Amino acid sequence: MAGRMKDPFGRILNYVRISVTDRCNLRCVYCMPPEGVPWIPHDEIMSYESILFLCGVLQDLGVQKVRFTGGEPFVRKDFVPFLGEVRKNFPSLKIALTTNGTYLERWAEELAALRLESVNISLDTLDPGKFHSVTRGGDLEDVLQGVEALRKTGGVPMKMNMVVMREYNLEEVPSLTEFAREKGILLRFIEFMPLDREIWALPSFVPGEEILSLLPEGESWKLPPGEEGTADACGPAREYRSDRRKQTVGIISAVSDHFCARCNRLRITSRGLVRPCLFSEFGISILEGLRKKDRERVAREILAAAEAKPDRGRTGIPPRGEKRDDEKGQSCRMSRIGG
Ligand code: SAM
Ligand code: SF4
Repeated sequence: MAGRMKDPFGRILNYVRISVTDRCNLRCVYCMPPEGVPWIPHDEIMSYESILFLCGVLQDLGVQKVRFTGGEPFVRKDFVPFLGEVRKNFPSLKIALTTNGTYLERWAEELAALRLESVNISLDTLDPGKFHSVTRGGDLEDVLQGVEALRKTGGVPMKMNMVVMREYNLEEVPSLTEFAREKGILLRFIEFMPLDREIWALPSFVPGEEILSLLPEGESWKLPPGEEGTADACGPAREYRSDRRKQTVGIISAVSDHFCARCNRLRITSRGLVRPCLFSEFGISILEGLRKKDRERVAREILAAAEAKPDRGRTGIPPRGEKRDDEKGQSCRMSRIGG
């Protein structure tokens, strides 16, 4: 079974994002409804044991990197000890995390010992009031202390993700760029993506080009010659470098620009649905195969999802009345897919 997983367009899939929960302690306006997501019974989500088994199958299929995400991964009980198990069982697997950063202070030391490839922290504003309203209740200080604690360990490469929305934080593009430079963290700007009709609002959308034009010392930012960008983000990021500022930033333009030709990933929800594309309307369930520890079956199902990858994502707004449904009638919110 060992080998390289390819899709019908010849793209090698060596990166899988696994959502460990769709619950979250925050309710970001661009991601979740105010009431949160419906409660999923414990036996309907992948157990840690199943995810460990899954990592083995993925490695056999040629996957080199997994990213654990959510919801907020740290709200799931024993998440960090689980990461320790993944590290112990798969020493050569690259492990990355995406988190809202609110629990990092508590876990910084433990994380530093895990040889993580990167921790991506979502931070959209440096204004405590705005942070509180956009996350519907979050405390900015928790994230700032988390960033500082992780930085102090010196053992974990960090990135920062800023979802840019016109009415909310567009004017903070320069200040967050400066913040990232001071802290020595790679900042990536993410275009607001239309995954959920109830949340999506076109006037909030800011295209990557416009974000780029707002960077401090705008004309100094250049795409390295021949560089198409990296494939290491929510969608592949184009990385711009300003030698004058001695800084690099990424722009993830999943909506205004298509990076699908370089897509190298699959996504697996906490319910064990393998989604061929972030914008797919369906997923293939591996839950039963995982429960039975049926390696061949799980591999077959993952390969079927790889086979179903579209050549490019359907990033349009779902037409009125149509939802991206895949999980018992629940629309496909980012909090389910994990970004
Ligand atoms: N809770 C973690 C966090 O916030 O980083 C991990 C899960 S979150 C769904 C993963 C990423 O998706 C975050 O960087 C978040 O900002 C981004 N995200 C959520 N909804 C989005 C949307 N509608 N458009 C663009 N990015 C979005
Ligand atoms: Fe939670 Fe992350 Fe979604 Fe915000 S973006 S509601 S922190 S899952």
